[in-house]
Amino acid sequence: MYTHIIIHFDEITLKGNNRPFFERVLIGNIKEFLENTKHNNIYKDGGKIIVEINSESEQTLVHFQNLKEILKNIPGVSNFYFAVSCEKDLEKINKKTVEFLDEFLQTENKKTFKIEARRADKKFGLKSPEINARVGEYVLENTKLKVDVHHPNLEIVIDIGYQQCFIYFEKIKGLGGLPVGTAGKLISLISGGIDSPVASMMMMKRGAKIIFVHFKNRTMASGAGDDKIEKLVKTLSHFQGKSKLYIVPFEDFQKEIIAKIPAKNRMIIYRRIMFKLSEIVANKENAKGFITGDSLSQVASQTLENIGVIYNSANLPIFSPLIGMNKQEIIDLAVKIKTYETSIIPYEDCCSFLIAKHPEIKAKLEEIVRQEKFLEIDKAIEKVMTDVKPLIFFDKF
Ligand code: ATP
Ligand code: MG
Repeated sequence: MYTHIIIHFDEITLKGNNRPFFERVLIGNIKEFLENTKHNNIYKDGGKIIVEINSESEQTLVHFQNLKEILKNIPGVSNFYFAVSCEKDLEKINKKTVEFLDEFLQTENKKTFKIEARRADKKFGLKSPEINARVGEYVLENTKLKVDVHHPNLEIVIDIGYQQCFIYFEKIKGLGGLPVGTAGKLISLISGGIDSPVASMMMMKRGAKIIFVHFKNRTMASGAGDDKIEKLVKTLSHFQGKSKLYIVPFEDFQKEIIAKIPAKNRMIIYRRIMFKLSEIVANKENAKGFITGDSLSQVASQTLENIGVIYNSANLPIFSPLIGMNKQEIIDLAVKIKTYETSIIPYEDCCSFLIAKHPEIKAKLEEIVRQEKFLEIDKAIEKVMTDVKPLIFFDKF
């Protein structure tokens, strides 16, 4: 029954001369997601993006539901509507509106309406208030709906574009923010816990393309537990499309840390080495910074002092969007973006030797740097980073 999807941009309107760039990236992202559905045409029309739904075979509720789920997750989409197109002729618009409503009202219980005409094409014979009046009158005569201009159950938009007219009424809220890729790339250190996936998604929403890096500590059979990280990355691909994941074996570093570093400082040094390794990935990927799931004082490694010492090891900026959030707020978001269920699957992330009974909570940089000098890890860093190859995931519903 629908012929088109009308998509409105979010903050792109604020971007001045860069606007065409933001629009181009968003259209590219939408195309990537809709690639294996049969949408042959996606284009810009004035201030919106139009997706054509052409083929008869695509007119199924399941298909529309899928499209809705896909579009709801794409950063940069402010809102969208499923629409029907119509010739720019008042009589045809009237008929089409009632036809569309009849179908819609079979499943939806709406009692009142209002017509909201938008006229981009100023050459169209009638002005907006006249369109409102004329179409309103026709709907009133031909359906059971009553007019309510202040608090209608249904706002029927008659959108007169340059080429055709669109009729739509159900506004679906998008994720908002900026199209992925417009801000450049960031490396997300993803742990398999609740926090780092949420942090990654928040930065996607600000236009960053995320490359994932996971450090694998497990001494158990190689591959065990990778599923969990892969599943998280797949879920996050619902927001940014194709997603790269580097799984970096950490065993050699872990052994060296345990052998040479006092228990209370192991976690701090462990995290400093993670940034050093991540930097190699960042250079390779031309990424401009890192993301972590740190939240102030949530665990010992996240006291102000320790964060200071840990972040000091990195030569690129580190973004921790959850830093001021409470655990419950983070959990709520994790549930919303559907990573929570995977995050809570038990997973032996950190070797128990790295977790001290009494960890340092006020680390001093000089002391940490002094102890770090005893580690012989340069060769291991080189080896591990030449060996590691990224995996690519894209879960297309
Ligand atoms: P999370 O829920 O994201 O695991 P956390 O509260 O458990 O976070 P830590 O374990 O102290 O906190 O880790 C802090 C941050 O360090 C994580 O959010 C993540 O960005 C990074 N990190 C920790 N462990 C790993 C790992 N094995 N691989 C990659 N990054 C990691
Ligand atoms: Mg963790």
